[in-house]
Amino acid sequence: MKNKNLLIIILAIVIGLLMAIIFSTKSDFVLEDRVEETVADVRELLKLPTDSVHVVIRYVDKDITDSGVTTYAWVYGDPVNHQYVINITNRVTRYNVAEIVAHEMIHIKQYEEGTLKMSPDNPNVACFKGKSYNVLFVPYRFRPWEIEAFAISHLLEYKLKQ
Ligand SMILES: [Zn+2]
Repeated sequence: MKNKNLLIIILAIVIGLLMAIIFSTKSDFVLEDRVEETVADVRELLKLPTDSVHVVIRYVDKDITDSGVTTYAWVYGDPVNHQYVINITNRVTRYNVAEIVAHEMIHIKQYEEGTLKMSPDNPNVACFKGKSYNVLFVPYRFRPWEIEAFAISHLLEYKLKQ
């Protein structure tokens, strides 16, 4: 009888703990919604019109590592047709979604303005503001288009929070 009571108490504690975990992790954050909202807000800030610049969001569960840096997202650009695909990995959270989306949208702006171009002959060669860079020899953090994107994304992130 004593053992049975003890078992009931343990069971009650376990259920209580499980409920506490479930309710503490439950939130109104939906990544897809937040991404869509942020894309729309950043579009306005960067003046990228919806009717002429097409952005598709793709959610992926694989990471891409680029010279030792694991990216949260990356963008494929087709500046000629103004078509872009932003790939969002599951590492994107409520805490970094604004910065990550803003960063990728800045790359779209760079493609649209023609400051950033990928070489049609060599996928490892990018041209930024008239200068060519082989990404195999320029680490991620030192690429001038990344430096620009990080700088502006912080500014946009600040504006988004206003
Ligand atoms: Zn970037």
